[in-house]
Amino acid sequence: MSTRRNFMRASLAATLGAAFAQSSARSAFAAPQVADAASALGKMKLSFRPYLLTLRHAFGVSGVTRTETMGVQVEIECDGIVGYGEASMPPYLSESTDSVLAFLKRVDLSQFNDPFALDDILTYVDGICENNAAAKCSIDLALHDLVGKLMGQPWWRIWGLNKEKTPTTMYTIGIDTPEKVMEKTREAAKFELLKVKLGRDKKSDREMIESVRAVSDKPIAVDANQGWKDKVYALEMIEWLHEQGIVMVEQPMKKTKHDDIAWITERSPLPIMADESLQRLTDIPKLKGVFSGINIKLMKCTGLREAWKMLNFARALDMKVMVGCMTETSCAISAAAQLSPAVDWADLDGNLLISNDLFDGVRTEPNGKLVLSDKPGLGLTKLEKPINRLDTLI
Ligand SMILES: [Mg+2]
Repeated sequence: MSTRRNFMRASLAATLGAAFAQSSARSAFAAPQVADAASALGKMKLSFRPYLLTLRHAFGVSGVTRTETMGVQVEIECDGIVGYGEASMPPYLSESTDSVLAFLKRVDLSQFNDPFALDDILTYVDGICENNAAAKCSIDLALHDLVGKLMGQPWWRIWGLNKEKTPTTMYTIGIDTPEKVMEKTREAAKFELLKVKLGRDKKSDREMIESVRAVSDKPIAVDANQGWKDKVYALEMIEWLHEQGIVMVEQPMKKTKHDDIAWITERSPLPIMADESLQRLTDIPKLKGVFSGINIKLMKCTGLREAWKMLNFARALDMKVMVGCMTETSCAISAAAQLSPAVDWADLDGNLLISNDLFDGVRTEPNGKLVLSDKPGLGLTKLEKPINRLDTLI
């Protein structure tokens, strides 16, 4: 089996040409064999199950507070190799466990006999119906994990990225009482960059920042989650935040208020990043000149295939890029981390906020530095029993 797999790996890697320097010596021999190798792979088998994520702390953003969140775990098995994927569905987006399961039941991978036909497969998946981005993402991640494993390479290397260039992830402090905020900030004392949720009202916003500043002088990213109603007030807040050591602001106003946000961005001393205003690749052109940059989230953009295109498109438009996440296990976090050497900021702490992580994958150092694995695909190892991820790094 291993000889056959090595042969397939060499053959299939050769099709990807320049992306795989190590295949070049074998290309002349291997390339004509690709069709045989592909057809020699077994059929892909898709399986999935709901998985309830439990949060370490009740988590507040400008609209809601919650203590748990639903996810769906996905596997695609081919030739004895399993690729892992995940959908996470925060309540403020339109997907639910039922809608994800209903979508996944419609996915028929038996029509494809080659997992390397990523583009064909994911175009088919995207075309099944509109929306359902998290459900589509779960397939995209499992397929990327599978294909990376078949090639024996992690995706950061396939994309030609330098794993030494990963940023430190932000650690998010949700809206809470001053005492709770100070407690959470102390818990995150070693992180190099904190992210603070704002956007309720002036008193709450200032109290949040002052509570964090009472126990930490680390740089802070702020996420207003569309909460500020008035552009003049938003700009005043941003100028005040600038004096408090804040480094950037995400989504200051409602996602549709492009004129107001453009007005703020033009005057702001801090970069203004799009989150709720953005979902997929096709949203980016209208954000140029409105925001300084974009926050790419796999669950909103259908997965790594589109995320990689978004990153490169935003760069071509001279926009900043951050990669964000939902509350999710190390499966989806490790997937997003594959992109992280190419971004300005990473907000990939979703796995640190839960008490029942299912995977080892990207490692987070105590200061938040992301350490990518050399393991193939998304770099995952499935755990025998769920763990509290944050306990592993403090
Ligand atoms: Mg955000």
